[in-house]
Amino acid sequence: MARDAALRGLDVCLVERGDLAAGTSSRSTRFIHGGLRYLQTLEFGFVREGLHERATLMRVAPHLVHPTEFLFPAVRGGGMPRLALRCGIGLYDLLAGRGRLPGTRSLSRSQTLLQEPTLRGDRLRGSVIYFDGAADDARLVIETAIGAVEAGACVALHVEVERVVPSEHGSAVLVLRDRLTGASLGARAAVVVNAAGVWAGTLLQAGNGASRKRSPAALRPSRGSHIVVARESLPLLRVVVMPSRSDGRLLFAVPCGDFTYLGTTEVDHTGPLDPVAADASELDYILTVAQEVFEAPGLSRDKVLFTWAGIRPLVERPHISTGRLSRDFRILQEAPGVVSVVGGKLTSCRRMAQATLDLAAGVLMARTGKQADTCITGWKLFPGSEGAVPAEEEGATVEAGVARHLRTVYGSRCALIFRKIAQAPALGKPYAPGCPVTPAEVIHAVEREGAVRLADLLFRRFHPVMMEARLKSAQGKAVAEGASRVMASWLGWSEERRLKEMSLAAEEWEKDFRVPRPA
Ligand SMILES: Cc1cc2nc3c(=O)[nH]c(=O)nc-3n(C[C@H](O)[C@H](O)[C@H](O)COP(=O)(O)OP(=O)(O)OC[C@H]3O[C@@H](n4cnc5c(N)ncnc54)[C@H](O)[C@@H]3O)c2cc1C
Repeated sequence: MARDAALRGLDVCLVERGDLAAGTSSRSTRFIHGGLRYLQTLEFGFVREGLHERATLMRVAPHLVHPTEFLFPAVRGGGMPRLALRCGIGLYDLLAGRGRLPGTRSLSRSQTLLQEPTLRGDRLRGSVIYFDGAADDARLVIETAIGAVEAGACVALHVEVERVVPSEHGSAVLVLRDRLTGASLGARAAVVVNAAGVWAGTLLQAGNGASRKRSPAALRPSRGSHIVVARESLPLLRVVVMPSRSDGRLLFAVPCGDFTYLGTTEVDHTGPLDPVAADASELDYILTVAQEVFEAPGLSRDKVLFTWAGIRPLVERPHISTGRLSRDFRILQEAPGVVSVVGGKLTSCRRMAQATLDLAAGVLMARTGKQADTCITGWKLFPGSEGAVPAEEEGATVEAGVARHLRTVYGSRCALIFRKIAQAPALGKPYAPGCPVTPAEVIHAVEREGAVRLADLLFRRFHPVMMEARLKSAQGKAVAEGASRVMASWLGWSEERRLKEMSLAAEEWEKDFRVPRPA
């Protein structure tokens, strides 16, 4: 939203009460897709739009959004016959139009078992392989924010909007609180865009001041959880779709580095929005579906290393289960000068911003006479998308694993980190064997990516799965210890503050990524 607005030549300030991607956007399944399962609900327009966005994001952020191979097994009893599956995926490809990803093909039962030997053979009839999009969700958000700053936006992290006081003609007043220092702040804005995800309703209520009426487009919070196991517990070569026999939902098993993650659930979330964590019944549900699909005796509750959960900000429609609620978004103007956007999915983030800002620009024009430029996010490249450079080109000597990691994560911006290492080679030495995180990457995150807390660094700036899983291991401890020391010297922390950051990061890990105990 902030990137789009700044690229239209507007004066923008993004206010985020936590870290970038600290909300739902670091808790997704990490697909950039049309959503094969929305074909089941006949939402063809929605699927087509998602596929169009997939193509756009692959074009403007090729280092962030990339094609990934999926295998959809055809199973007897409850699943889809192979022909129907082939037709469904054919339609999916067709809806993608020119953004279609090549590679769709049908496999017989024996070919399928050769490709993915952990699949159960008893009910298997064959499979279809196809390609869809994937991205590191937190990184997509971080780079969008970097793009916003490059376009001239101001980004204020760890600053909470406590209240929005709309005004009929003048500027809206925002009452803000700096969550790091506790200081109260104020700001004025001709137009406020409320894009607070599942918290949007809270902000709207605050915006409505004394009346505190419930938003007419109330959100229906829906929790989704994932479980993570070591790759050897469920070794896969590609993403495998897991159709649930009990409710027909599609879950996914996703290989990711040394791990495989599985999810997601879809349950009405009735408790507080913070903190959010998987519960024991979700864990059991995912394991049951996985046991239906895979011959993996090792896949049991005690093999789950950690979990993560997020809350989808779905737009409410009564009498419809969360699984069948549309992922479409809605734009509302409930108070003068305040435009809210609710619903949607990560894939549609660019499109949501475009539609919301088209409306917000009209409101701005009417209130101030200021004209915004047109949206250019459909073709403007993301930071880092100009192609990664080899370390040697910047004069840096680093281990192959470190160079690969930096090129994959940062795209062309890896040059900034390589340059640092060229000036001080010790900054390119990993904190722990087998883990590519180096002091140079920590400094980069602090200097250029807005990381101000150790948890910001460990859980969102670095590749999430790698760090989350290893926080308690010797490797994880070495990274947390080393990174906290670099942050302390860069940000002027006392030893007491550094130790506090270490324990806060450990607490966050326990709170957000814990394995729930059996009920
Ligand atoms: C389990 C799960 C799996 C998913 N998988 C996919 C997928 O594979 N592909 C896909 O496209 N989508 C997926 N989604 C959906 C997608 O993740 C969300 O739609 C998207 O991340 C929501 O982004 P958002 O910016 O609206 O909300 P958020 O990411 O939650 O951002 C809202 C931000 O507002 C901030 N905020 C809240 N209140 C205030 C305040 N008062 N002041 C300042 N800041 C405030 C929060 O801190 C938060 O960072 C999934 C969702 C879930 C839960």
